[in-house]
Amino acid sequence: MKSLDQIAAELQGYDPQALAATSVQAFLERLVAPVTGTEQVPVAAALGRVLAQDIVSPFSVPPHDNSAMDGYAFDGEQLATGTPLRLAVVGTALAGRAWQGRVGPGECVKIMTGAIMPAGLDTVVPQEFTRSVDGSAIEVPAGLLRAGDNRRLAGEDLMAGRPALLQGERLGPAACGLLASLGLPTVPVLRRVRVAYFSTGDEILSVGEPPREGAVYDSNRYTVAGLLARLGCELVDLGVVRDQPELLEQAFRSAAGQADAIITSGGVSVGEADFTKAMMKQLGDVAFWKIAMRPGRPMAVGRIAEAAPGRAPAVLFGLPGNPVAVMVTFLAFVRPALLRMMGCRDTAPPPLLRARSQEAMRKKPGRTEYQRGIVSAAPDGGLQVRTTGNQGSGVLSSMVQANGLIVLHHAQANVAPGDEVDVMMFDGAI
Ligand code: AMP
Ligand code: MG
Repeated sequence: MKSLDQIAAELQGYDPQALAATSVQAFLERLVAPVTGTEQVPVAAALGRVLAQDIVSPFSVPPHDNSAMDGYAFDGEQLATGTPLRLAVVGTALAGRAWQGRVGPGECVKIMTGAIMPAGLDTVVPQEFTRSVDGSAIEVPAGLLRAGDNRRLAGEDLMAGRPALLQGERLGPAACGLLASLGLPTVPVLRRVRVAYFSTGDEILSVGEPPREGAVYDSNRYTVAGLLARLGCELVDLGVVRDQPELLEQAFRSAAGQADAIITSGGVSVGEADFTKAMMKQLGDVAFWKIAMRPGRPMAVGRIAEAAPGRAPAVLFGLPGNPVAVMVTFLAFVRPALLRMMGCRDTAPPPLLRARSQEAMRKKPGRTEYQRGIVSAAPDGGLQVRTTGNQGSGVLSSMVQANGLIVLHHAQANVAPGDEVDVMMFDGAI
């Protein structure tokens, strides 16, 4: 395992006092590693879990050629003539009950969607395109069909012996359905990542405590818990920790002793007259950064080990105190790092959306700025975005109104109304 200094040495132009957002991501990629423990869970409980190994199809899906329509199945070779085709109906194939007889030239079988194609037949004419003749035959109009139409091929979804899903797939509703279509009762998944989190600061009140002058209620523990729950992490809530060395030490040791990652908020800004930074330094290998971004400039990262044989040291994310800064740094840095710890193959942030800015935005080149934005459909059918107003890093209400973060990149300058900007949509992350 590389120390923080070794990781820093690998990165060009690493300067903890002025770190570009992209360097933070590169650093964290090297800092964290996927968990290794696995377990077997029922498919019904697998949503959001990460596959521990490739899932190979034990059979093909669908297992047989079958009809995509309600209609009549016949041998498409007879379509070559260019004149209407008259076919005698010799039987019926139902979904779940195949037609076993033979079907000769000039004959067809009435067939339902999903029914197995009778032997030798490759084409289905939908019911609504046929004309009944004397009650025992149908006519297929000329020029309507080509051989093979309206037939689903065996294995067109999944082929026997091939991987249906790859290791590292984070199972969504579609993947769970796919696993079920293979008849699998359980699937192997990586164990959940366990994250301990607490808030720091003498001015921070827990819900239930009486209000006090100069004190604020702790919101960070709730936003962090929600963001972690969205990722499917196991949560260990360590509450609000007062700014006292014994209490902080106890909290960090407890967190490191039971979790894969620790998330704290507050107490990492420059000139903080508190013990949080000192305790992080004392207990672990920790770097303190000033990131060239807004909001969320200060951040601490590193590892804190608590003697527990066979367990990797806990990764520490010391987030700033301001509620919006917590959420932005989580989305920009912590979330991709946790996805990597969860063993996800795809940890890349979702593609940014381009939208036309409805307003002017001031922006200094040399730092990445995240503005809370509301993306909507423009009258011309394109996308437009406006900010939620007050962009103060403590203004959580504007985070509530937003449906994404406008990302003004490191080198970018002022934005004029009508300029296109990038937006990181919240989607399922928030
Ligand atoms: P700090 O990073 O500790 O200097 O905190 C920056 C600002 O965020 C201060 O105004 C704090 O009162 C506020 N803050 C810190 N932690 C929390 C929290 N858990 N909930 C709400 N506000 C907080
Ligand atoms: Mg503080």
